[in-house]
Amino acid sequence: MPSTPFANAVRQLEKAAEAIDLNPGILAVLKNPIRILQVSIPVEMDDGKTKVFSGYRVQHNDSRGPTKGGIRYHPKADLGEVKALAMLMTWKCSLMNIPYGGAKGGIIVDPKKLSHRELERLTRGYVQGLNGFIGPNRDIPAPDVYTNPQIMAWIMDESSRMLGYNVPGIVTGKPVEIGGSLGRHYATAQGGIDVLDEVCGLKGVKCDRNSRVVIQGFGNAGSFSAKILYQKGYKVVSVSDSQGGIYNPKGLNPSEVEVYKKEHGTVVGFPGTKKINNKQILELPCDILIPAALDNQITQANAGKIKAKIILELANGAISPEADEKLAKRNIMFIPDILSNAGGVTVSYFEWVQNLQQFYWDEKEVLQRLKKVMQAAFRQTYETAQLHKTNLRMAAYILAVSRVAEAMKLRGH
Ligand code: GLU
Repeated sequence: MPSTPFANAVRQLEKAAEAIDLNPGILAVLKNPIRILQVSIPVEMDDGKTKVFSGYRVQHNDSRGPTKGGIRYHPKADLGEVKALAMLMTWKCSLMNIPYGGAKGGIIVDPKKLSHRELERLTRGYVQGLNGFIGPNRDIPAPDVYTNPQIMAWIMDESSRMLGYNVPGIVTGKPVEIGGSLGRHYATAQGGIDVLDEVCGLKGVKCDRNSRVVIQGFGNAGSFSAKILYQKGYKVVSVSDSQGGIYNPKGLNPSEVEVYKKEHGTVVGFPGTKKINNKQILELPCDILIPAALDNQITQANAGKIKAKIILELANGAISPEADEKLAKRNIMFIPDILSNAGGVTVSYFEWVQNLQQFYWDEKEVLQRLKKVMQAAFRQTYETAQLHKTNLRMAAYILAVSRVAEAMKLRGH
């Protein structure tokens, strides 16, 4: 089978299905999304010319609730990848035990090449194309790669205009002023660290405040993880962005790095650090490695060279399936993406709940509830791994797929 993101996602599902002896009919349904929508979006550019963009929305499974998942704006977005990521969202929501199925959207575009107004017209055009396909009880989009709260605000506004009344619950990751949840902007990082706290509390795991942390990526998830871990007393020795990485074995202050990046457009060149590239960063001596940038970073080629003892897979698909096996053999503990980065969708769920009940929580309440969900998911995954004598990814899939299959069975699908 080719190693496309969708083929990998199906292979992972098949492995979990085998472990739980899943009904073949249910497996056949789960291998494909329930719905796919492709839209052409004509956009009047600032120079008066019209450009047509392609967008997708894929709904993978809705047995446990309305479908949920982000929208990415990326020049290399393609249907296969969006299908794979929609499936991943089904497992992620199921693993967190939040009442959603999975979905994902994408537009083939380099948003950095569009003006603010062009981006707004593109987003509104996409929402018009999705008319009736999304909705607070149907399918709820959110931010993903290169999309942000402003884009979510336009989605909410365009949907509300089309319906004639406000529908904040149609999208999450909105600015707080128009119904976003407090804590949502750093929820992915916070949820990952809640899980890390659980890992560090396990018997036999050596990780404390002196542990050295390496973080690949300094976007939303990467930079917030760095700042939170630094505040907790961890030693963040290296971070990177698309231009490269910086390393100081004595540790960095991520807030200062952030200020430097704002001024210079990159972390590279931060005083007192050595420049390294994005491949080298993964192989640095450290205790905890957090890939928080792109997919397919830890592969068969470099899995043997990783020195970390714990990997928190914050970016979706950062570890390839072949690397999983190598890491497991080397006794490196890796916490899979659908668990590590599920803090984002969990606080999205809280945002949606607050929108529906029109009653808003303070930040402390959001964070307490997030911690509870992350802790429960980690403990259940860990117990499943012990029971099935397998790694945490396989255990997470076993749990997630079983819950979806149970819902399908009960509903008579
Ligand atoms: N795009 C994020 C993810 O992959 C968040 C999805 C959401 O908040 O619905 O989990």
